[in-house]
Amino acid sequence: MLPGPDQIIACPQCGHLARRPTLSSGNTFHSVQWSDGRLEAPMLPEYPDLTRCRGCRALYWIRDARQVGEVDCWHEDIEDAPQEWQVAERVDEPGLDEYADALEAQMATDRDDELFLRIRYWWLFNDPQREEQSLAERGSGRRKRRNKKVLAISEKHASRMEANLERLAKLLDARKPPERIMKAEIARQTGRLDQAIALLEKCPAGLREYSDQILVFARDGDRVVRPLSD
Ligand SMILES: [Zn+2]
Repeated sequence: MLPGPDQIIACPQCGHLARRPTLSSGNTFHSVQWSDGRLEAPMLPEYPDLTRCRGCRALYWIRDARQVGEVDCWHEDIEDAPQEWQVAERVDEPGLDEYADALEAQMATDRDDELFLRIRYWWLFNDPQREEQSLAERGSGRRKRRNKKVLAISEKHASRMEANLERLAKLLDARKPPERIMKAEIARQTGRLDQAIALLEKCPAGLREYSDQILVFARDGDRVVRPLSD
């Protein structure tokens, strides 16, 4: 993995500066493909496309922020950059609240934006389940504390997530194999197992190695997000 230069961007609302890292090159070594479509790839980090300004607390798309400069820490001395660039803090990763607020504020301008926000909101909601399984695999004693975290997240976002997944399932196009699998996964996780099975049984070749694994979970009545094997 090779980092690219950091972009110095200005909040579109108040001009507060933030620093957004970029990636020059990455790879999918040691990555894990999850049944909900999330690819966890330590050597291919995703940097935020949406963030909350630390100055005025407004949510904004990174693409709407003016880029005022660039700092390439590999090739230049940070001391040569203007003082305000040096002290600019790294953009915050959006959390569940940020995605929920962005959807409520209708920040999606087209289908791709809406898919992006709804899918990432869902992935974050599933993250405690992922952590739980990773910790269980390592036999860690931190499981109990995690359970509490899972509960806290569930209570606050559970009803919003229900509406999110209902809308997301409508948006996803079953004629496109990756979207078909995601649609089936939503059906599986929300307990509509027959629908999940029907979608997965007719999944076209190409992604069968993944869809067949999810089909087994659905037939077992398993509703939890699961890692898939290659
Ligand atoms: Zn701001």
